Amino acid sequence: MSVAGTTVEVGARTAVGRVREHNEDAYLVRDRVFAVADGMGGHAAGEVASALAIEAMDRLSEHDPITPELVVAAVSDANASIIEAGLAERRRRGMGTTLTGVALIGPASARRWLVFNLGDSRVYRFADGRLDQLTVDHSEVQELVDAGYITRTEAAIHPARNIITRSLGLELDPEPDVWDRDPSGEETFLVCSDGLTGELRDAEIARILADAPSAQAAADLLCAAAEDAGGRDNITVVVVRAVTAGD
Ligand code: MN
Repeated sequence: MSVAGTTVEVGARTAVGRVREHNEDAYLVRDRVFAVADGMGGHAAGEVASALAIEAMDRLSEHDPITPELVVAAVSDANASIIEAGLAERRRRGMGTTLTGVALIGPASARRWLVFNLGDSRVYRFADGRLDQLTVDHSEVQELVDAGYITRTEAAIHPARNIITRSLGLELDPEPDVWDRDPSGEETFLVCSDGLTGELRDAEIARILADAPSAQAAADLLCAAAEDAGGRDNITVVVVRAVTAGD
C-alpha cells in the first residue's frame, strides 16, 4: 500500500494598502480550502460580497472528500447569496467579488489540487525556482493579450486593467474556471488579489517566495513589498507551502 500524503504549511495576510479607506478583500484559510475574494461595490458593499463568497467556500470543509462538483456548487451558492443580499438592500445592489483559490480534493489517500477562479485575483505556483500563473484573468486586458493586441507587460499598466469580465454577484451562475492537478514534491501556491500583482513584478514575487523562511513570513513580506511599491489597492496574500510524499 502506498503511503502518499500532502501536508501543508499556510500563511496569510491582508492589508488595506496606502490609498483605500476600506479593505474589501477577504480570504479563507481552512483545512483543505484556501481562497481570496476581492469585493467591489459602493457603500462598503464590496466587503459584504467578498465575505459572503468566503463564507460559502468555508462550508466546503464539512465535506471529505471535497469533489470538483462540490467546489463548483459552493461557487454557485456564493453567487446566489450575493445576489440575494443585493436584492434585499438597495444600496448593495450591483455588488460583486472575484473569487479564486486552491482546494485539496479527493480522499485522504489520494489528494489532488483543484484550482478555481472567477475574476482577476490569481493563483500562482512556485516550484524549483519557477513562478507560473495558473489562473487566467477574466478581464478585458487578458482578452487583448489573448488576441495578440498587447503584451502581458503592457496589460499590467493598461488603463482598462481593472475591468473584469466575469465575477460573482453580477450574473446568474457565472462559470468558474477549474484546473485539476496532481500534487508533486515541494510546491508553493500563492493565492492573491490584484493589489499584489498590480504592484510587484513576477520576479520580485518569486524572489520573496524563495527567500522567506516560512509561509507566514512570505505572506507578510509580499504584503509589505506591495505597500512599499505604492499600495494603491487592498492587498491579500495566502501562501500554501505543500509537501507531497511519494510511495
Ligand atoms: Mn483589488
